[in-house]
Amino acid sequence: MSDIKYHRVLLKLSGEALMGEQAYGIDPAVPQRLAEEIRPVWEAGVQVAIVVGGGNIFRGLSGAAAGMDRAQGDNMGMLATVINSLSLQDCFERNGMDCRVMSAIEMRQIAEPYIRRRAIRHLEKGRITIYAAGTGNPYFTTDTAAALRACEINAEVLMKATNVDGIYDADPKKDPSAKRFDTITYREVLNRDLKVMDATATALCHDNKMPIMVFDIKQPGVFMRAISGDHVGTTVVEEDSNE
Ligand code: UDP
Repeated sequence: MSDIKYHRVLLKLSGEALMGEQAYGIDPAVPQRLAEEIRPVWEAGVQVAIVVGGGNIFRGLSGAAAGMDRAQGDNMGMLATVINSLSLQDCFERNGMDCRVMSAIEMRQIAEPYIRRRAIRHLEKGRITIYAAGTGNPYFTTDTAAALRACEINAEVLMKATNVDGIYDADPKKDPSAKRFDTITYREVLNRDLKVMDATATALCHDNKMPIMVFDIKQPGVFMRAISGDHVGTTVVEEDSNE
């Protein structure tokens, strides 16, 4: 068993990651792959908290662009994250992994309300906890929810799983000469307007010295390697060790 560097982590999964090869919604193969990726980390005793996005189902901004009231669209987006959270919980439980969903918007019939102390207690008891419904407020993103929850539960690191293997100085899908950073400072992420996380989430992590790691969750075993302290993807830090 590899060494464990982090003992409590918050993993942010984008809604789009759940689409797999589909154009919309949830590809059932993806939650299964994620369960297999998370399982060894959970079995090693690491406390795993998860925030999942909703972009595979609905984004408030797209609703607003189509003429919808922004806050109403955002409410729909937050409900989309609940659907994704329940799908992950179902899959984890089928894989024998204890899991609780806690929602920032009360819907007691299907998920517990998010209560910080209870969330920490679940983690201490070895339950994967999924925080649904974002922050519970419109005009925010699930990246900000992930940053907020990571701070609240005293996670050691916020791990943002994306479809790209780190933070680049340009979009690597459009610009083949784009360079990947090993480490980068919060300030540089903000100054260069790098689209890894929105500014609110980045600033919240900066203010609270919450390290951010960004990596491609599709690389098998990458979550365990990150937990073990291997360098994967890009780490956002206070001071750039390369400078
Ligand atoms: N959302 C919100 N408040 C929050 C988190 C999310 O209103 O605290 C809404 C917002 O409309 C957003 C949608 O939920 O577009 C889905 O979340 P996000 O776009 O962050 O998901 P991801 O890009 O990670 O799939």
